[in-house]
Amino acid sequence: KIRTRIAPSPTGDPHVGTAYIALFNKVFAESQGGEFILRIEDTDQARSTAESEQAILDSLRWLGLNWVEGPDVGGPHGPYRQSERRDIYQKYAQQLIDQGHAFHCFCTAERLDEVREQQRAAGEDIGYDGHCMHLDPSDVAKRIAAGEEHVVRMKVPQEGVCTIHDELRDTVEIDWKQIDMQVLMKSDGLPTYHLASVVDDHLMEISHIMRGEEWISSTPKQIALYQYFGWDVPTYVHLPLLRNADKSKLSKRKNPTSVTYYRELGILPEALLNFLGMMGWTMPDGEEVFSLEQMKAKFSVERISLGGPVFDQEKLNWLNGKYLREHHTPEQLLQRLVDWKFNAEFATQLMPLAQTRAETLGDIAPLLAFFFQGTLAITEDSFASVKLETEELKQVLQLILWKLETQRHWEKDNIFADIKAIADFKELKFKDINAPLFIAITGSTASVSVMDAMAILGPDITRGRIRYAIN
Ligand code: ATP
Ligand code: GLU
Repeated sequence: KIRTRIAPSPTGDPHVGTAYIALFNKVFAESQGGEFILRIEDTDQARSTAESEQAILDSLRWLGLNWVEGPDVGGPHGPYRQSERRDIYQKYAQQLIDQGHAFHCFCTAERLDEVREQQRAAGEDIGYDGHCMHLDPSDVAKRIAAGEEHVVRMKVPQEGVCTIHDELRDTVEIDWKQIDMQVLMKSDGLPTYHLASVVDDHLMEISHIMRGEEWISSTPKQIALYQYFGWDVPTYVHLPLLRNADKSKLSKRKNPTSVTYYRELGILPEALLNFLGMMGWTMPDGEEVFSLEQMKAKFSVERISLGGPVFDQEKLNWLNGKYLREHHTPEQLLQRLVDWKFNAEFATQLMPLAQTRAETLGDIAPLLAFFFQGTLAITEDSFASVKLETEELKQVLQLILWKLETQRHWEKDNIFADIKAIADFKELKFKDINAPLFIAITGSTASVSVMDAMAILGPDITRGRIRYAIN
């Protein structure tokens, strides 16, 4: 049976790349009568958060990329969150040690740094030097019993080549010499990605691994693990990564990457899904507008092309416009608008802001219009009244952007504190910073409170508008 999975790490915003990879996994599996499941890879405890996990699940579900097994819906192969599977990884790590495919390593960070330094100076490949590979077993047991910090590393073949079969590529060959003796279990007793994903993909009966091509270089280690365990190696399909207009890897510096940004902007989920389906794939008849069901009906892996697909926002807007015009009656369109933001729940938050400034009811809509807009029509000239020179202005906005990108608790007081911190750091008056921020966020110099506005607009639109003002 064909089974595929999306395995996001909940360490940040729900990435459009995750949605794109999920789409292809789902379409491939379900077009063949198979199953698509979701697993949360949260072994990096320092960076994983419950909020990020929730945002990823919400975004995928908003797009209609449902899964038949996962942490929220359960299933016969659970738990589906790696942090809840510690005992399973312990057991398999122990099996590898017992069979001589892995070993305990007590090397300190200082020693590893030194080894790397020496290798660099000698022009050698950088990697673990095998120092702990042949320790005496009774010695190892004593050091562990004494509580000495350690990790578990895998052995890798010292010669020959690893051959990767990928459905989209000619055979890929990588010299084993280039492959490091990967840490499988960290000193905190949690597995690394490599061990956890191989064990889980096997136990969850995943037949095809479709993931971004950034993972090709990790594949040899994973193939070695399958072989050590005596398990069948799944079929690999490494998908091309999404690109910025300049063909570099899609990055939020150049292009918003969060699904929630597009949702807030007023992109319809079916349009975003259709657009992601056009990334590296075309319908056999060249049709550009297609639904998930239509894509499934016509899907074949061979039609995926490896040339880097460009995430072109103008194209996405064009497609979204087509959906608005051609797939909705006026009544349906109104309903979409209501579901999006034109509703009492959202408007209630805005009333206190407009109330102090309006004389007639007719004043209110223009005052609040920017809450319902996507990108604002601002140019450098919009900042003409601002005290700061253009270069300094851009620098200040960039500092604010970086600060706000790290803000985990999006509330007015915290946003205010972040901006105040930048003002202090630059030794500027708060109002000299506040003025340009006003223009970037609300589009005008006189409007409702910009701190309230940012709090209500949320992190995605706020950051998107500041980013737009800088560029
Ligand atoms: P980094 O620069 O550190 O790789 P990132 O922007 O790629 O950051 P991550 O948090 O690493 O973001 O990625 C989140 C998820 O999105 C990962 O599963 C990753 O594979 C996927 N992803 C990131 N960039 C792309 C891309 N350009 N195309 C497809 N998927 C991507
Ligand atoms: N957790 C990895 C990610 O965030 C999964 C990689 C894979 O699909 O093997 O992309």
